[in-house]
Amino acid sequence: MKKNGLVYLMITGIFLGIFSGWMFGTSMLKVEWIGEMFLDALKMLVVPLIISSMIVGIAGLGDIRKVGKTGFIALVYFMVTTCVAVVIGLAMVNIIQPGIAVEMTVEHIPEKVMGKEAVGITDILKSFISPNLFESMAKMEILPLIVFSLVFGAVLTTLGESGKRAIDFFDTVNSAIMKIVHLLMYFAPIGVFALIASKLGAAGGGDLFLAEIAKIGKYVVTVISALLIHGFLVLPLILYVTTKRNPIIYFKNVTAALTTAFSTASSSATLPVTIECAEENNKVSRKASLFVLPLAATVNMNGTALYESVATLFIAQMLGIHLGFGEQVIVFLTATLAAIGAAGIPEAGLVTMVMVLQSVGLPLEGIGMLLSMDWFLDRCRTTINVWGDSIGAAVIDNLEEKWIERGGKA
Ligand code: ASP
Repeated sequence: MKKNGLVYLMITGIFLGIFSGWMFGTSMLKVEWIGEMFLDALKMLVVPLIISSMIVGIAGLGDIRKVGKTGFIALVYFMVTTCVAVVIGLAMVNIIQPGIAVEMTVEHIPEKVMGKEAVGITDILKSFISPNLFESMAKMEILPLIVFSLVFGAVLTTLGESGKRAIDFFDTVNSAIMKIVHLLMYFAPIGVFALIASKLGAAGGGDLFLAEIAKIGKYVVTVISALLIHGFLVLPLILYVTTKRNPIIYFKNVTAALTTAFSTASSSATLPVTIECAEENNKVSRKASLFVLPLAATVNMNGTALYESVATLFIAQMLGIHLGFGEQVIVFLTATLAAIGAAGIPEAGLVTMVMVLQSVGLPLEGIGMLLSMDWFLDRCRTTINVWGDSIGAAVIDNLEEKWIERGGKA
């Protein structure tokens, strides 16, 4: 089947999923298993894909200085876009003031974030290294796998002929996994349909959705409009200015990844599709997409950072607590860190938000007010996370090329 045809079917799957979940509510739970199978099949590919991608990506970059330069450009891109996202979030929440006149009706700390109070910066740093790689693989803890594969790949490049043989092995593994992704995409339309229909159904269908929106609708509007500004103005502008690529075409080419992100609410599970779209459709160089995208899916979360800043100010407004400029700077810093620390899995942002709330002394009970809508907003922010990652691959690829051209060498 033509790629475009598949993408149209995926979009149709999303709309049919929304329609069915909205109309038939909990009876759509009957198709939940289909969505879970699709999601599990994607997740099944993530660990071998990340390990082989990072090793091949780093080997493709060549010597360690090139890796350093690409890594540095990636870091700057991640930081700049995340910071801009938080600023947009803060600006919108200050303008719209969605928390004013909303009654705080939840009095307990949600189970999801219970016991997470102690999570701080040192815990985020500690999560980079794992004492047991197999345990990390089993638990799909991506950061330690990335760190290990980076070091492993870099060391392989120094081992001469035998190192090259090992790299060739991982190269073949990577190509095989990408072929499986290709095949799996034929199931994507039905998979995304089932994921959306069953999730909306589990949330009670259209009537309950509307009832929840009525309670915190202004907050939902604030988050979505800020995400749209970032996703449709800022990121495309960065893409155009740095690479001269047409953002509309670029967008069309990553639609499969964006629909997968919206349906799975997981950047990590979407990673196989994100890599496929970057490499195959948008012709980002293989070395850049393999090196940048696994990293980006784990640490670059524009949508999550933006969301955390809006949610924190929303809670403060709801409680009648004024956060001044200094406190908003603290929110800015901690929301950026919390997004870096959030895993690419559903509702991870809600958990790392504990750190942001605590930094300005807000009660964790506030998170309870966000729960009813978080499953939906999670999908929206994950889509922007993946969009930001995809644009990052092209931007970093281009800037790295220019840097090397200008220097004449690495
Ligand atoms: N679900 C998001 C992601 O995977 C993380 C979050 O909860 O914000 O990108």
